[in-house]
Amino acid sequence: MYLYDHPGGKYVLEECRGKEIGKYFYGAYSLDDNIKVHKHSFVAGKIMKKIAIAKLKLPMDIDNMVTFGGEGKGDGRDHSHELYNGHFKVTRKDEIFKGVYRVTFSNENNHYKIVLPGTSTFGRHYLIHSESQKVSRYYTICNSMNSEIYPVYINNIDRLIGNSRDEKLSLDNVDDITESLQLTIKFYEQSRKGLTRLLANVQDEDEFLVSKPMGKGLDLSADSITGTNLVFLGGTGVLPFLDFFVFLARMIISEKSPSDKIINNEEFEPFFKHSSFKVYAYYPNANEAVALDLLVKISDLFSHFKEEERFSFTPVFTRQGGDRLNDQKIYEFLDQASRASDLKNIWVCGPPKMNNMFQRLRKTIERKYEGSAVDIM
Ligand SMILES: Cc1cc2nc3c(=O)[nH]c(=O)nc-3n(C[C@H](O)[C@H](O)[C@H](O)COP(=O)(O)OP(=O)(O)OC[C@H]3O[C@@H](n4cnc5c(N)ncnc54)[C@H](O)[C@@H]3O)c2cc1C
Repeated sequence: MYLYDHPGGKYVLEECRGKEIGKYFYGAYSLDDNIKVHKHSFVAGKIMKKIAIAKLKLPMDIDNMVTFGGEGKGDGRDHSHELYNGHFKVTRKDEIFKGVYRVTFSNENNHYKIVLPGTSTFGRHYLIHSESQKVSRYYTICNSMNSEIYPVYINNIDRLIGNSRDEKLSLDNVDDITESLQLTIKFYEQSRKGLTRLLANVQDEDEFLVSKPMGKGLDLSADSITGTNLVFLGGTGVLPFLDFFVFLARMIISEKSPSDKIINNEEFEPFFKHSSFKVYAYYPNANEAVALDLLVKISDLFSHFKEEERFSFTPVFTRQGGDRLNDQKIYEFLDQASRASDLKNIWVCGPPKMNNMFQRLRKTIERKYEGSAVDIM
């Protein structure tokens, strides 16, 4: 059994069983403080392909999200399995929060749909790869951070909850097919190598490969999220969930005030009426808080409709006196949430210290709260 042949030991495989392991496989993340980040070799990739039991097929709407314009098209071969869609250059970088940049990747041969009505992109990511430097990293699909779309959401919610904006902007008016892909990326001063460092110092001639959307995405089947869901996020860890939270905002608007719908052909998802989401986001301070204004507005929107039980957002500013999580606090949150209805998902996406804490408690939590699942992104 490969468990015993794995050069990184069996612990890693056991901990990853049934999980999405791309981020560990491609490097840049460690499962545990005691395990060094490992960059898998070409040979490891071949072994993985040999022992894989199946390959996940992307939902159709995601597959259609990227359309080939030139490269790789029309040669009669099936390209659907290919990871990369051509070479991209970084054409723009804008600092949108302290240390966090909106990075625009462009490739005139590819066109992206940036407004998708469904849920299938949520929690998925692109793998960006530099061939020259041989480094890769996951970055989240976060369409709501797009420079054209973000203000549409802010404006619409503001108008609905009675703040002064007056235009009614619909996403149907946003040009949703673009040649460029905007990703939101935090640059860490201390990082000396890796893809984020490369992007921080990107040169005009640098080229990158971008994968099709990857990962298993959020499981939004009614069975798995009917009940109370807790979400613990840290810093840019809000990004993998932002499109989903915005989607919840669109749903509550469609339900409570249908004439104000932001997307006309929006359809209700079966889970929406019977699940609630309590979000705790840990930021150093308000100036470094990615998407804080949008998240606060979404929570104001639910309060406006007196539906704060269905979505609440609590930001905690750790450098301004806010308490970090510890075991006791985590159990307090879980106990409190489980009193209202069955605890379902505990989603976590934060800095390693936060993730490791949940990794350590995962099995105990899942035993204590029957039917719950801790998922560390
Ligand atoms: C699938 C996936 C996709 C990702 N996509 C992106 C992306 O597109 N762009 C991007 O920039 N990053 C992305 N990341 C990276 C990830 O979101 C961040 O590395 C991580 O969330 C840390 O963010 P940060 O550096 O902003 O946090 P920090 O600023 O280091 O920390 C945020 C806050 O958490 C607090 N904190 C630390 N430990 C604890 C604790 N135990 N309890 C409570 N609070 C604590 C800190 O005090 C701080 O206030 C992705 C990660 C994954 C897994």
